[in-house]
Amino acid sequence: MNYLKLAQLYEAISSTTKRLEKMDILSNFLKDLAKEDKEILYLLLGDIYPEYDERRIGISNQLVIKAISKATGIEGDSVVKEWKKIGDLGEVAEKLISGKKQATLQDQTLTTKKVLENLRKLPELEGKGTVGKKLGLITELLTSASPIEAKYLVRTLIGDLRIGILEGTIRESLASAFFERTKENSEIIQRAIDKSNDIAIVFEVAKKGKIKSLEDISLQVGKPIKAMLAQKTATIESAFKALGKPCAVEYKYDGFRLLIHKGADKIALFTRSLENVTNQFPEVVEYVKKYVKGDSFILDSEAVGYHKKTKEYTPFQAISQRIRRKYGIEKLQKELPVEINVFDILYYNGKSELDTPFEKRSKLLRKIVKDTPYKIVVAKQIITEDGGKVTEFYDKAIKDNQEGVIFKNLKAEYKPGRRVGHMLKLKPEEKDYDLVITGAEYGKGKRSGWFSSFILSCKSGGKGEYLEVGKMGTGIKEKSEQGVSFEELTNQIKPLILEENEKRVKIKPKIVVAVTYQEIQFSPNYDSKYALRFPRFIALRPDKPLSEITTIKEIQDDFKNQKRNYRYG
Ligand code: AMP
Repeated sequence: MNYLKLAQLYEAISSTTKRLEKMDILSNFLKDLAKEDKEILYLLLGDIYPEYDERRIGISNQLVIKAISKATGIEGDSVVKEWKKIGDLGEVAEKLISGKKQATLQDQTLTTKKVLENLRKLPELEGKGTVGKKLGLITELLTSASPIEAKYLVRTLIGDLRIGILEGTIRESLASAFFERTKENSEIIQRAIDKSNDIAIVFEVAKKGKIKSLEDISLQVGKPIKAMLAQKTATIESAFKALGKPCAVEYKYDGFRLLIHKGADKIALFTRSLENVTNQFPEVVEYVKKYVKGDSFILDSEAVGYHKKTKEYTPFQAISQRIRRKYGIEKLQKELPVEINVFDILYYNGKSELDTPFEKRSKLLRKIVKDTPYKIVVAKQIITEDGGKVTEFYDKAIKDNQEGVIFKNLKAEYKPGRRVGHMLKLKPEEKDYDLVITGAEYGKGKRSGWFSSFILSCKSGGKGEYLEVGKMGTGIKEKSEQGVSFEELTNQIKPLILEENEKRVKIKPKIVVAVTYQEIQFSPNYDSKYALRFPRFIALRPDKPLSEITTIKEIQDDFKNQKRNYRYG
């Protein structure tokens, strides 16, 4: 297919903000899409491979700017200037290429095949001369691109397609293209997506027009699969009420999620974000070989660190470096040992166990895993209907440095990639921070004219000093009727502006806000050296004096003690 046709589809989809209209446009496109062109579905999601594949485009804005400059003959500085003015590098490419195209007529047609071919070469390049080669591959595409093709090529390269298509939109469009859009059909398609993590395969099977054949798409050992996620519960009573009695209650371990695949010839380990970490944990591969029976299986587990001498469990933070480490693994393995706590099984000896009730899966685990403490064990579990027993168990978990407990419905199936209501986590409340706004950035599109992102600071130990700890944009409302809005914050900020620099302002510290966050990260970019991940606005705190806001010391302590990690937990 010509890439132009795809670019026109992107344009049509982004011309409406209505989800239903986007879906109609997409479903018409999918109806006509040939089987041979199925990989276009990756491009629709801004990707070049299925989701389970780790290879990503990974190109910097800088390199794209160079390529635009090379393809158009316009100086890099001028490209940057345009970028500052327009704010979207894709639109910059569109504008500059259209200027050039008036002079020299486009000489080649670009096909989606060629685009994928060049983009797929990018992550493969390594070693000397890589940058030059990458630049060549991108420039080649841009040179044969028309203006709108250039726009979407650039957006794909920098990983920001901006057309508002998510996996859910594709799911619904597949349903209406090939079946009917009913809740049941959507669920079947979603399950096929969750099991395969490959939207192109789901398209190919759906295209045949038999909804039942989507149910035949199965798990494959060695191909990473998304883990099932838990919902929150506030109390033991509410958990029993939601799940019924009796329930299984397990330790909620404070480590990182590890899905263990064993096939005929090898064992592979994947994190929750589908990263392959087999090489980082050679000892775990050995434990699985030695202590788990079976020719093939997929296990779900939590890897928990423990102190090499005292054998006490350590928080996730202590072992996080093992996940990414490429060198000196043997040494690290001794310094930071992990114990695998297996709590579920998805596949066993050639057969999917997804539909087997949890109680049975759990029993199967106990049959095949030989409990070997400090290496690999089945997760601690009680099956009970007695709230008192759960309280005892919960206290024990906390004393053991774990996070709390997880309630599991005994009859429930395993739903990959879903946050399900039949698995409920109970842990101590997370706390909020009170921080002060010290800067802001003007928004774009419908938010232009308002500040839409806010720099948050905490108090340093000394007097009157504030240290930046993050940037907040969520939790604030579009309309004043709904709560604290962008407009209201903007009005409060304007009289406090100290310095203005293009879209950014620095302001006098005065507005105190309560925020929650997902996680604290170490960050060289902020003067506090910490960054809150996903800070979310909760409330204005005009009652809080600046002297009482959260201090850097509190954040440092929380960082050290923090339990989970967003990416892996
Ligand atoms: P959260 O990250 O707070 O949504 O909690 C869910 C996470 O708890 C899962 O992703 C697992 O990594 C972790 N976890 C620890 N112990 C268990 C367990 N026994 N069963 C299921 N998940 C567990």
